[in-house]
Amino acid sequence: MVSPIISDAIRTMPKAELHLHIEGTLEPELAYELAERNKVELPFAGLEDLRQRYHFTNLQSFLDLYYELMNVLRTADDFKDLVLAYLSKAHEQGVVRSEIFFDPQVHVENGIDIDTVLDGLLAGTLLGRERYGISCGLIPCIVRDMPVQSAEEIVDALAPRASELLGLGLDSAEVGYPPELFGDVFARAREIGLHLVAHAGEEGPAEYVSQAVHDLKVERVDHGIRSVEDAELLNTIQERGIALTCCPLSNLKLKVVNDLDELPLQRLIDSGVSITVNSDDPAYFGGYIADNYDALAELGFTLPQLAQLAENSLHAAFVDDDERDGMLKAFSLWAQTHKDLLV
Ligand SMILES: [Zn+2]
Repeated sequence: MVSPIISDAIRTMPKAELHLHIEGTLEPELAYELAERNKVELPFAGLEDLRQRYHFTNLQSFLDLYYELMNVLRTADDFKDLVLAYLSKAHEQGVVRSEIFFDPQVHVENGIDIDTVLDGLLAGTLLGRERYGISCGLIPCIVRDMPVQSAEEIVDALAPRASELLGLGLDSAEVGYPPELFGDVFARAREIGLHLVAHAGEEGPAEYVSQAVHDLKVERVDHGIRSVEDAELLNTIQERGIALTCCPLSNLKLKVVNDLDELPLQRLIDSGVSITVNSDDPAYFGGYIADNYDALAELGFTLPQLAQLAENSLHAAFVDDDERDGMLKAFSLWAQTHKDLLV
């Protein structure tokens, strides 16, 4: 168990969350509330049954539930409420900046207008900033196991509102859907001024990370842990200052590793790569961001080491210099008040 003093320090440490799917923050209670509000029939015996299903057994049972529950999101208010519920938890866990993923293709397939999705998410982030002081950006993700043409269409649909978005990402089932399929889609996203990120090297090989870096020209890699298998790739990642957004509890829950100490985080850190800690789909994976830091503390990471990872996240966020300076000042202040724990 992590001592309460360290756990409290982790929760007040200013940090950015850079790998978070908003649909993955849908807790069972809110899923039922939204289903009732929208008269969506859920195929479960009730709230308790749904709670049990959150203890899924493999990737496919997770994805089945994940996409099933996205059906309860129908109106702009639903998306706004989902963002606010997440930000209230993120605030308690020391998040000062959140760059939020969402899957527009799935919502459009569910019959929701893309503007409804965006309006709701943006309203949530604006209110969240007022209520919790968290600055946010939105990163729509291409669902890589849907047809490439659908990816092209969604980027066209998002283009008129590109100024309201932060970037473009790539997510969902990795193996069999290499990043190189999406070179044109990402080139177009770059043209319309979006930052670029992609999931790669979670279950897929280091070669997929290499494609994300070279073919898609991403600025961060989501997960990316299998980069550790390719020394030349690690050099490139380190030289280009590409951060990896790692998600320990997600890797454990989805059985990417059987035990957290199998994660190559220390080897990646030792190779000079910028590692950050994130929660991925926290409602499903047993913890929000500080719970992920706690898990690393239990593995033996010290508070100074964890503080370095939090500081990495502030450097890896897509913010302007003024905002970054403000976040780093808040971080320095925290370090000052916790200096006895940081020696
Ligand atoms: Zn993810």
